[in-house]
Amino acid sequence: MLGLGRRSARRRSKRHPTDGSLLERVPRPAPSAERSSVVRIVVPAPRGSEPRNAWLIPGPPVVLVDPGPATDAAYAAVRDAMAALSLGLHDIRRIVLTHAHGGHAGLTARIQADSGAHILAHPDALPALADPSAAAAQRLDRALRAAAAAGMPADLAGSSADGWHARLAAELAEEPLGVSPSACAALADGEPLDPRADDPEGLLSWSAHHTGGHSADHLVLVHTQRATAITGDLIDRRRSTLADIVPTGPGGVRAPQLARLVEAWRILARRPVNLWLPGHGEPIRAPRVLVARRLAESRLALQSVRHVLSAEPLTAWDVCTRRGMAGGAHDAGRALTATIALLDWLVARGHAARTVRDGAWRFVRTERRGRGR
Ligand SMILES: [Zn+2]
Repeated sequence: MLGLGRRSARRRSKRHPTDGSLLERVPRPAPSAERSSVVRIVVPAPRGSEPRNAWLIPGPPVVLVDPGPATDAAYAAVRDAMAALSLGLHDIRRIVLTHAHGGHAGLTARIQADSGAHILAHPDALPALADPSAAAAQRLDRALRAAAAAGMPADLAGSSADGWHARLAAELAEEPLGVSPSACAALADGEPLDPRADDPEGLLSWSAHHTGGHSADHLVLVHTQRATAITGDLIDRRRSTLADIVPTGPGGVRAPQLARLVEAWRILARRPVNLWLPGHGEPIRAPRVLVARRLAESRLALQSVRHVLSAEPLTAWDVCTRRGMAGGAHDAGRALTATIALLDWLVARGHAARTVRDGAWRFVRTERRGRGR
């Protein structure tokens, strides 16, 4: 079902039998360029959730990528890490966001107020940066509507939504600050970080690439000469990065999460970029190995969904429970979102069909002729 991925992975693996061989062929950065190499700042997350990574490009100009959640602890972590490099928050000239989720972007307004930095993000991220509370409320509303269309029982959807709400609120603090639209600029796909900047340290060599996937506004920052990418929530060492809440694309239509994630992994894996700097956890030094593992997991998950489907129309929630994935409220929400992503993949490729009855999606298995999968 992930046939294309398998073929291209095989082709790649012939040319580059290990990730390391590709890494060795990429020239190391010259020592003079070390000054602007990327520094990881581990930012604590609220309520025991996993810490986030902010990435600092010391420049000049100084660039901070994904500051973290809007908490005092996150603010102190960024400030202290910069002080250790003899830098202050006022030195930051650009704040770049891989995506506008509160856990990575919530601190933006506060740091922008301290620094006067320009904020760069995908155009779809700008409304959420200007009014984070409204954006969080919209995400919750869409989540509840998606849960209803997926046939999730109302009481479970309610407690899932309570969990989502608590998490979003914790990432955005009590009264989330919005950033002034005049401080923000939209980054187009393929655009250098700031075409207006003087570029003594190669800042222009960082360019933004729109991938979508985990969220519709997701960008990856790539530095080709350094063979490095800042990858946000595109991939994670330890868990799937399918979003907890079904992401919505242009026009309010739900975005096909898995297809976009897989496409983004493929695009990045084809580039000579060997160091992926994620939004959580350690730098990823063998990204193609991790991508291959995620593809294998996705393939198994797709098979398990297809196995559950039959001629009998099922809601997404039916599929979720028959896969044995419906646990507590939080797990149920995550599992449902993942199941919707898998069903969307199967429908897009003709392995399943979707109809709408009584406001709920129903899925049946279809048999494809010819390729047999
Ligand atoms: Zn995210």
